[in-house]
Amino acid sequence: MAEFASSRKPFADLSHNAQLWSVEESANLFGLDQWGYPYFSINDKGHVIVCPKGESGGSLDLMALVDEMDGRNVGVPLLIRFDDILEDRLERLHTAFQKAIAQYHYKGNYQGVFPIKCNQQRYVVEELIACGKQWHFGLEAGSKAELLVALSLMDDPKALLICNGYKDQRYIETAILARQLGRSPVVVIEQPDEVDRIISASKLLGAAPLIGIRAKLASRSSGRWGSSVGETSKFGLSIPDILSTVEALRNAHLLDELQLLHFHLGSQINNIAILKDALQEAGQIYVELCALGAPMGYLDVGGGLGIDYDGSRTASSASTNYSLQNYANDVVATIGECCDSNSIDPPTLISESGRAIVSHFSVLVFNILGVGAVSNDIPPVSDDAPLILRNLRDSLRNIESMSDSSSIDPSLLQEVWNDALKFKDDALVAFRLGYLGLADRAKAEQLTWGCARALINRLSGVTSNSKEIIHLRSVLASTYYANFSIFRSAPDTWAIDQLFPVMPIHRLNEKPTQLGHFADLTCDSDGKLSRFINHGQDKTLLELHEFNDHDEYLIGMFLAGAYQEVMGSLHNLFGTTNSVHIRMTNDGGYQVDHVVRANMKSDVLEAMEHDPNQLLERLRVASELAIQRGALKIKDARLLMDHVETSLRQSTYLKR
Ligand SMILES: *Cc1c(COP(=O)(O)O)cnc(C)c1O
Repeated sequence: MAEFASSRKPFADLSHNAQLWSVEESANLFGLDQWGYPYFSINDKGHVIVCPKGESGGSLDLMALVDEMDGRNVGVPLLIRFDDILEDRLERLHTAFQKAIAQYHYKGNYQGVFPIKCNQQRYVVEELIACGKQWHFGLEAGSKAELLVALSLMDDPKALLICNGYKDQRYIETAILARQLGRSPVVVIEQPDEVDRIISASKLLGAAPLIGIRAKLASRSSGRWGSSVGETSKFGLSIPDILSTVEALRNAHLLDELQLLHFHLGSQINNIAILKDALQEAGQIYVELCALGAPMGYLDVGGGLGIDYDGSRTASSASTNYSLQNYANDVVATIGECCDSNSIDPPTLISESGRAIVSHFSVLVFNILGVGAVSNDIPPVSDDAPLILRNLRDSLRNIESMSDSSSIDPSLLQEVWNDALKFKDDALVAFRLGYLGLADRAKAEQLTWGCARALINRLSGVTSNSKEIIHLRSVLASTYYANFSIFRSAPDTWAIDQLFPVMPIHRLNEKPTQLGHFADLTCDSDGKLSRFINHGQDKTLLELHEFNDHDEYLIGMFLAGAYQEVMGSLHNLFGTTNSVHIRMTNDGGYQVDHVVRANMKSDVLEAMEHDPNQLLERLRVASELAIQRGALKIKDARLLMDHVETSLRQSTYLKR
């Protein structure tokens, strides 16, 4: 890992050029005071601090942590996992349900399971099982591979193992045998034909699994995953299917094993009203199943418990209009009421909350490699400049002679800017036809950016959301080149326009004077981050600090602990980043529980069936031939081979 050793840069505070600016202003600007509570805040040094146990004590300086990890040769980009946050989230979930159960005098229990698909990392699943013991917290598997993870890691007979997803005969037989092993698997029938397989597997083994039914609710969800429910959704049984399944189970003498009703509204439910409808519908189906003679006992409300990514508490796609407690209250109260009015025993309530448990616990920190922006220079006046350049210069003078901000008429502004854009286009046409040289074309571009900058300066005091002004700002915005791949570390920002809170983790006592967006390392023009949370809306540019080549500028991406890692791909062969698991210690310090090294280049090559040794051998042969031809010196051949060999053992990211 030599690449990390020499790459240490001082983490400067740069307080010398800090403008008057408070950390509270930063917290507000980046929404940290809303989405960050209770885990993230800012200290007097202007660094993000992490309180992994929430309000109950202990904090650490994220910047100092990254520095200390760098000192251990575990450099950025770095995924930091706070296991205490996992534990705290689990505790909050259970506390919320316990409170609701007490408040509504619900006579059943709550027993959660973790949907493995949300984060399959071994240390994450192990941690959740360990912290969840006290509540008999279980797992949900959605595939045969996930079932294997669950079977091998679980050992509490009271913890449930919910078996979802497509199931073949072997999946079902494995679940039946696992019951004899002392686990509590519930095979949830998601497709009508699964019931036949359950019946034949039970006959074959002379034993039966616990059985659940997934209902296709008619209540529609909203948002991105809204199509997970409704009559046309991919999973679940329609009402006629449910009825025929009950009869099939009855005929096979398996109705006594039918104990669970399941539904899933899709992930990130934004609007609590949707949940209420679904709960009422599911409650009635539950009552009917009891009436049909199934013993029942469990009602599984699936996933969907949302995260307030932008802290706005709204039904926008990056937020939720409810809290964890509201969610628990609605589940408990609605089902309780339904059972009371039908005089049946209330079921044990299960939720498969994944996103809500694992989003907060990991933070990705990446560094900036450089910044690009349109030129700041204005070419000097020359008397023999071509007409096009003189026109542009006139536009610039025009703008500069305008009075400041308040009295400017936006339509006049638009007119001058349109002129400038037209002259720039003229310059391009003239260049294509050979009438304008490269140097003059460069001047035309500089003058155009000069016009844009002068316009923005005139408008500095004006807060406007007009399209033109937003466009002008984005023309002048800086591109911050970020040392990571969004396809690896934040694929949902690309695939489904997911917003995560992104902000610098230091210099937060310094006014961010630049507007910018991020470009990642891939050669893909989609490899960028250019939508940011903004108090319930979103924005295309983020306030950032001026970058300099001497100091690290570190950016954190927060609340991205769910789904991103496994959905991340090897696009452009960027592999996993370094990751560490951090635990707070009783004396207020922390310990590093696990260090998981970034993929080496040889790892990602092998993933694509390349053989690193063969690759080296081919290069060796090629350089031997070049030496014989006299094209390559022996010492240069050695240097080349050294570089390649070392590179294969290093991470796929860049070092500064
Ligand atoms: C994906 C999924 C979940 C997890 O949903 P979250 O929104 O992450 O809580 C739960 N249950 C099922 C059946 C799923 O497919």
